[in-house]
Amino acid sequence: MQELQGTSACVGLALGPAKVLRRRTSPLVRIVQEPLRETSLFEAAVVVAKDEIAQLSERASARDKAIFTFQIEVLSDRGLLDEILSHIAAGTGAAAAVERAASLYAAKIRSIPDEYLSQRAGDIQDVCRRVVDILDGRPREQLILDKPCVLIADELLPSDLISADRSLLLGVITAGGSTQNHASIIARTFGIPTVVLAGPKILTATDGTICALDGATGQIIIDPDEATYARYSHRIHLARRRSVLLERLRDAPCVTRDGVRIHLYANCSGPEDIEKAIAQGAEGVGLLRSEFLFLGGAAPNEQQQYSFYRDCLKAAAGRPVTIRTLDIGSDKSVAGLTTEEPNPALGLRGVRFSLAREDLFHPQLAALLRTGLEGPLRVMFPMIATPEDLSRALAAVDTVRRQLTRRRVPFCSEMPFGIMVETPASVLLAEELAQKAAFFSIGTNDLTQYLHAADRINPAVVDYFTPASPAVLRSLRMVLDAAEQQGIPVSVCGESAADPDTALLYVQSGIRRLSLSPPALLEVKARLMDENVLMG
Ligand code: PEP
Ligand code: MG
Repeated sequence: MQELQGTSACVGLALGPAKVLRRRTSPLVRIVQEPLRETSLFEAAVVVAKDEIAQLSERASARDKAIFTFQIEVLSDRGLLDEILSHIAAGTGAAAAVERAASLYAAKIRSIPDEYLSQRAGDIQDVCRRVVDILDGRPREQLILDKPCVLIADELLPSDLISADRSLLLGVITAGGSTQNHASIIARTFGIPTVVLAGPKILTATDGTICALDGATGQIIIDPDEATYARYSHRIHLARRRSVLLERLRDAPCVTRDGVRIHLYANCSGPEDIEKAIAQGAEGVGLLRSEFLFLGGAAPNEQQQYSFYRDCLKAAAGRPVTIRTLDIGSDKSVAGLTTEEPNPALGLRGVRFSLAREDLFHPQLAALLRTGLEGPLRVMFPMIATPEDLSRALAAVDTVRRQLTRRRVPFCSEMPFGIMVETPASVLLAEELAQKAAFFSIGTNDLTQYLHAADRINPAVVDYFTPASPAVLRSLRMVLDAAEQQGIPVSVCGESAADPDTALLYVQSGIRRLSLSPPALLEVKARLMDENVLMG
């Protein structure tokens, strides 16, 4: 038995035989032809690769499609293409030229001090590996699984997870990788327990060796002894039993012991997880982070956004959906859209970014106003700090309404526009903001960060990041009071509401609407239904 420690990328427990993904390293014997011929072979391979990726994209969720859009863009990247062509011109065969350029390019991009960009190195290797396989006449590496397994790999590539039979993936462990790379994002979408950064030792496991992993703590056990095996089996059994019990609460309205009705909504990123959330009993979507649509790097146009938002409403099957306008900047940097800033959390993010970029803001508003005709849609602006921010955002809505009228495009004229309350200024100015906003949604992730001056992604100040602190709870009460005066609804949509203890504190502070990540819905519901919440 050997124990290793990695980093949690998706919670859940797994126990089963290992399947070690060993990527081909030794090339076939390659006959190199003259550069002109190698160039045409390379260009033809790029066309085939783009076509294959487009087909993979058809099977992917809306959010994951962005990954494949990025991969197709890599194959049109002038810098990369020129690098490959210069190797070919110097007499290198096309396949070797792609391998050389890919590793140079991936290393370059990894070294950029931008977390989002450096994590795209895996996508570059993925797409270049495909071109090499096409040139070598090798079948594309596909993850063929024939029985349930814990998949072990150096690093997982997005196409691995899209092409594999995911019902056979008990869990995933990678030696490298990162919690925010695309493969980890896909693993979370599908709820596959995943541990990354386990170190190279994990690759010494052999196929068939039993592996246990705890996706919450990052614990990995290779070849567990009898007692450990029994302990993991028991925990998996208990977790299944608990989810069967919780399942029974799915359709019950969430009412506390003392009769207070709480509305539970879900935080989502696209139609796929909306469907899952509704299946978990969510009463609607309290926060749809529209920025996930933009993560591919290329901004979707009005029509693409319109179809995406319409699919989201469809997935919610008549339940209300709250879509937040683009919230990029700070920790959500997007290559090609955001720029480097000295202090990004206090920089051009959220609505400030949108107000500075009408070319992105107006098409998004147009798509949202059009989608409003299709169902109960609400829209909110992130990072509002002052009433002027809100006035400017609402003025943009008016401008877009006029543009749509001129274009004779029908749109919803009654759509509610609310705000995220996530800056201390918006808490202090809640009375003024409530006069113009149709609703408030309190973002406790950012509110906690800004109230306590504690960077939400910096582990060194994690002790200051306290979403249930007296300062946060007092802010909730101030916002509720201001909203009550104007009769507008308030919800909380920060991740902290997924913690049953914190959710209870929020409800005891007067909050009646919570929006949380779908896997936590039933646990939070169970906790609230078991408590009295009216104090004193
Ligand atoms: C928040 O800040 O609480 C929030 C929900 O927004 P995000 O986490 O996307 O910044
Ligand atoms: Mg926020």
